[in-house]
Amino acid sequence: MAISTRTQFETIIGIEVHAQLRTSSKMFCPCPTAPAEGQADEPNTRVCPVCMGMPGTLPVINRRAVELVMLTGLALNCRVEIDAVRFERKNYFYPDLPKGYQISQYALPLTSNGRLVVPVPAEGGEVTVGITRAHLEEDTARMQHAGRGYSVVDFNRAGVPLMEIVTEPDIRSPAQARAYGETLRELLRAIGASNADMEAGSMRIEGNVSLRPVGSTTFGTKVEVKNLNSFRSLERALEYEVARHAEALERGEPLVQETRGWDEENGRTIVQRSKEEANDYRYFPEPDLPPLRPSEAWVAELRAQVPELPAQRRLRYVNELGLSEYDAGVLTADAALAAYFDAVVEAGIAPKPAANWVTGEFSRLLNQRAADGLRADAVALGPGGLARLIGEIDAGRVSGTNAKTVLATAFETGEDPVAIVEREGLGQVSDGDAIGAEIEAVLAEFPSQVADYRSGKQQLFGFLVGQVMKRMAGRADARLVNQELRRRLDA
Ligand code: ADP
Ligand code: ZN
Ligand code: MG
Repeated sequence: MAISTRTQFETIIGIEVHAQLRTSSKMFCPCPTAPAEGQADEPNTRVCPVCMGMPGTLPVINRRAVELVMLTGLALNCRVEIDAVRFERKNYFYPDLPKGYQISQYALPLTSNGRLVVPVPAEGGEVTVGITRAHLEEDTARMQHAGRGYSVVDFNRAGVPLMEIVTEPDIRSPAQARAYGETLRELLRAIGASNADMEAGSMRIEGNVSLRPVGSTTFGTKVEVKNLNSFRSLERALEYEVARHAEALERGEPLVQETRGWDEENGRTIVQRSKEEANDYRYFPEPDLPPLRPSEAWVAELRAQVPELPAQRRLRYVNELGLSEYDAGVLTADAALAAYFDAVVEAGIAPKPAANWVTGEFSRLLNQRAADGLRADAVALGPGGLARLIGEIDAGRVSGTNAKTVLATAFETGEDPVAIVEREGLGQVSDGDAIGAEIEAVLAEFPSQVADYRSGKQQLFGFLVGQVMKRMAGRADARLVNQELRRRLDA
């Protein structure tokens, strides 16, 4: 019988992300990055001599794009370069690159040396991913292969501000890689740096993967995987590569450093190009742009703008406030909703009931108005109002059911919930004496039902509760009615 000699391998992954920045104009010219509202996106309508790469034109740096990269770097705990950030030319020939070079950053990126803490629910923990750099560059035009030997080019995308974020090879599994992508997307959206939409192409992701025997300290040969249009594809492609590498290494076959594309339909990767075919980009400093020297004051101003990020907030909700992962996830998926919840808690409501109301009835009303784009921060009823309503429930002055009715009105009008309770007569009677008196009246009115209940007909209890509630016009505290009625019947 053969003894298994299978080697244990460790997976090493590093991720490169390109994200289009949310600016209104392009990186080096005034062309808009998106069509005007209500306008169709006709090809080659948002172009000018600069982004078409005409000789003799000069680029001008988009200040907002610089700011968004710095903001991202700060959110990723990066160091921001303030001495002299250089732009460099990355030279290569391709029809989607009108100038014959891309203006990018190479030796001195705007931000570097950061980290992102990534929750990995699939593995029940978190991983800290080192951020090598986040730098600024420009997007290329969009090629469309029209088939039958010709292609068309749309230059609307040429020169759109693009940020590249590169990680250290710190990721140890395809599930971690996916979680990194999702956490980064959340971060980019939370700080408003990018729409980070994989399907729309405003976020693109590439995975680098290699295997090494457990215990080894040197890296194995890496493969870069492209053509990933979802986080699921990223995870699947990396899983495929991990299995392929392990098999090759088991058989003692060397791996080739190459770029492979993910074939979604067939669930496999295919060679795109090997290292030998790699371009020599002949980087050199961009002579048409001055070095960039962001002032310390500017950096400080941006640092103050970095909000609490969704992943941090989720951890805080679970670890400090004791919310479930589920509630924490629902709240932090929407920054405005999370802020609303925070304010309800700040107003003195315990986190759990606050989360129940905000993710429950409040969110339901909000979703009904989703078509109007209503966000939690624009709802007429502020968090203080909701807190007052929850306080009334806690105090037993309004029932949960009536509170929903009150909330539906206050949500639209912003009226004080306590005033609505009074006006509509929706208050709850929690007065033991008042309830006791009604119970006695019911017991006197239905002596035969009472006798039947006492001789074992349990189902009559519901009938008697109903009679008490009816006498009190539905305003009695149901819990108290149940308790008192039971006590008197069983006496
Ligand atoms: P290249 O020069 O091929 O672009 P880089 O050194 O710039 O390679 O790294 C690109 C990405 O690949 C980074 O995210 C990095 O962390 C990752 N990476 C580098 N070496 C490895 C490796 N051996 N295995 C997996 N990922 C790696
Ligand atoms: Zn232009
Ligand atoms: Mg690289």
